Amino acid sequence: MPKITGGCLCRAIQYEIDKEPTSSATCYCRVCQYIAGGAPSHSVLFHKSDVTIQGKPTAYWMKSEEGNSVARHFCEKCGTPLFSESEARSDYISIKVGSLDDPSIFKPSLNIWVESAQPWHGTLKSHTPKSKFASISQKIRQLFLL
Ligand SMILES: [Zn+2]
Ligand SMILES: [Zn+2]
Repeated sequence: MPKITGGCLCRAIQYEIDKEPTSSATCYCRVCQYIAGGAPSHSVLFHKSDVTIQGKPTAYWMKSEEGNSVARHFCEKCGTPLFSESEARSDYISIKVGSLDDPSIFKPSLNIWVESAQPWHGTLKSHTPKSKFASISQKIRQLFLL
Protein backbone atom coordinates (compact mmCIF):
# COMPACT_ATOMS: atom_id res chain seq x y z
CA MET A 1 0.00 0.00 0.00
CA PRO A 2 1.41 3.43 -0.86
CA LYS A 3 1.87 5.84 2.02
CA ILE A 4 -0.85 8.38 2.67
CA THR A 5 0.68 11.85 2.65
CA GLY A 6 -0.51 15.37 3.26
CA GLY A 7 0.24 18.73 4.76
CA CYS A 8 -0.83 22.33 4.99
CA LEU A 9 -1.13 24.81 2.16
CA CYS A 10 2.32 26.38 2.74
CA ARG A 11 3.90 22.93 3.40
CA ALA A 12 5.47 24.06 6.69
CA ILE A 13 3.72 21.03 8.18
CA GLN A 14 3.68 17.68 6.41
CA TYR A 15 2.72 14.19 7.47
CA GLU A 16 2.74 10.63 6.28
CA ILE A 17 0.87 7.51 7.33
CA ASP A 18 1.62 3.85 6.75
CA LYS A 19 -1.83 2.44 7.47
CA GLU A 20 -5.36 2.73 6.20
CA PRO A 21 -7.68 5.03 8.18
CA THR A 22 -9.60 3.28 10.96
CA SER A 23 -12.73 5.31 10.30
CA SER A 24 -14.03 8.43 8.60
CA ALA A 25 -16.77 10.95 9.30
CA THR A 26 -18.40 14.14 8.16
CA CYS A 27 -19.17 16.41 11.10
CA TYR A 28 -21.78 19.16 10.91
CA CYS A 29 -21.19 20.57 14.40
CA ARG A 30 -21.00 24.33 14.80
CA VAL A 31 -17.31 24.23 15.71
CA CYS A 32 -16.46 22.38 12.51
CA GLN A 33 -18.42 25.00 10.59
CA TYR A 34 -16.07 27.64 12.02
CA ILE A 35 -13.03 25.61 11.10
CA ALA A 36 -14.20 24.59 7.64
CA GLY A 37 -15.36 28.07 6.61
CA GLY A 38 -19.06 27.20 6.91
CA ALA A 39 -18.96 23.72 5.41
CA PRO A 40 -19.07 20.50 7.41
CA SER A 41 -15.70 19.00 8.24
CA HIS A 42 -14.54 15.74 6.66
CA SER A 43 -12.07 13.72 8.71
CA VAL A 44 -10.23 10.43 8.62
CA LEU A 45 -9.12 8.75 11.79
CA PHE A 46 -5.77 7.07 12.43
CA HIS A 47 -3.87 5.56 15.30
CA LYS A 48 -1.52 8.34 16.37
CA SER A 49 1.44 5.97 16.34
CA ASP A 50 0.93 5.40 12.59
CA VAL A 51 1.23 9.11 11.74
CA THR A 52 4.59 10.88 11.32
CA ILE A 53 4.38 14.67 11.43
CA GLN A 54 7.07 17.10 10.33
CA GLY A 55 6.76 20.71 11.46
CA LYS A 56 4.91 22.05 14.47
CA PRO A 57 1.19 22.74 14.23
CA THR A 58 -0.40 25.14 16.69
CA ALA A 59 -3.02 23.59 19.01
CA TYR A 60 -6.20 25.25 20.16
CA TRP A 61 -7.63 23.36 23.16
CA MET A 62 -11.26 23.62 24.16
CA LYS A 63 -13.94 21.63 26.01
CA SER A 64 -16.35 19.69 23.82
CA GLU A 65 -20.05 19.65 24.57
CA GLU A 66 -19.45 16.23 26.11
CA GLY A 67 -16.90 17.78 28.48
CA ASN A 68 -13.80 16.28 26.87
CA SER A 69 -10.72 18.40 26.28
CA VAL A 70 -10.12 18.49 22.55
CA ALA A 71 -7.39 20.09 20.50
CA ARG A 72 -7.63 21.41 16.99
CA HIS A 73 -4.28 21.75 15.28
CA PHE A 74 -3.63 24.18 12.47
CA CYS A 75 -0.70 25.77 10.66
CA GLU A 76 0.18 29.06 12.29
CA LYS A 77 1.58 30.37 9.02
CA CYS A 78 -1.15 29.55 6.48
CA GLY A 79 -4.10 28.68 8.73
CA THR A 80 -4.87 25.26 7.27
CA PRO A 81 -6.84 23.08 9.73
CA LEU A 82 -4.92 19.80 10.00
CA PHE A 83 -5.65 17.54 12.98
CA SER A 84 -7.90 17.04 15.96
CA GLU A 85 -7.30 14.97 19.06
CA SER A 86 -9.20 14.27 22.24
CA GLU A 87 -7.79 13.74 25.71
CA ALA A 88 -10.36 10.96 26.13
CA ARG A 89 -8.85 9.02 23.19
CA SER A 90 -5.29 10.28 23.05
CA ASP A 91 -4.09 7.28 21.01
CA TYR A 92 -6.06 8.52 17.97
CA ILE A 93 -5.69 11.48 15.65
CA SER A 94 -8.29 12.80 13.27
CA ILE A 95 -6.96 14.32 10.05
CA LYS A 96 -8.84 16.88 7.97
CA VAL A 97 -9.46 15.45 4.50
CA GLY A 98 -8.66 18.77 2.84
CA SER A 99 -5.05 18.45 3.96
CA LEU A 100 -4.49 15.07 2.28
CA ASP A 101 -2.38 15.16 -0.87
CA ASP A 102 -5.08 12.95 -2.39
CA PRO A 103 -8.43 13.81 -0.78
CA SER A 104 -10.18 11.37 -3.14
CA ILE A 105 -9.24 8.49 -0.81
CA PHE A 106 -11.89 9.71 1.66
CA LYS A 107 -14.86 7.36 1.88
CA PRO A 108 -17.80 9.12 3.55
CA SER A 109 -19.24 6.62 6.03
CA LEU A 110 -20.78 8.53 8.90
CA ASN A 111 -22.55 11.86 9.28
CA ILE A 112 -22.47 13.28 12.79
CA TRP A 113 -23.98 16.32 14.50
CA VAL A 114 -26.47 16.66 11.66
CA GLU A 115 -28.81 18.62 13.96
CA SER A 116 -26.39 21.50 13.59
CA ALA A 117 -26.31 21.29 9.79
CA GLN A 118 -27.36 24.38 7.86
CA PRO A 119 -30.35 24.12 5.50
CA TRP A 120 -28.03 24.71 2.54
CA HIS A 121 -25.56 21.94 3.45
CA GLY A 122 -27.23 19.72 0.90
CA THR A 123 -28.64 16.26 0.99
CA LEU A 124 -27.47 14.16 3.91
CA LYS A 125 -26.89 10.48 3.34
CA SER A 126 -29.60 7.99 4.29
CA HIS A 127 -27.47 6.50 7.06
CA THR A 128 -27.52 9.81 8.87
CA PRO A 129 -28.58 9.33 12.48
CA LYS A 130 -31.84 11.07 13.39
CA SER A 131 -30.39 12.78 16.42
CA LYS A 132 -26.84 13.83 17.06
CA PHE A 133 -25.99 10.78 19.16
CA ALA A 134 -28.42 8.20 17.77
CA SER A 135 -26.72 4.95 16.88
CA ILE A 136 -23.26 6.37 17.53
CA SER A 137 -21.35 4.55 20.20
CA GLN A 138 -19.55 6.38 22.97
CA LYS A 139 -16.25 5.30 21.45
CA ILE A 140 -17.02 6.78 18.03
CA ARG A 141 -18.23 9.98 19.64
CA GLN A 142 -15.00 10.35 21.54
CA LEU A 143 -12.96 9.57 18.46
CA PHE A 144 -14.57 12.38 16.57
CA LEU A 145 -14.35 14.74 19.51
CA LEU A 146 -17.99 15.18 20.33
ZN1 LIG B 1 1.07 26.08 6.47
ZN1 LIG C 1 -17.49 18.84 14.33
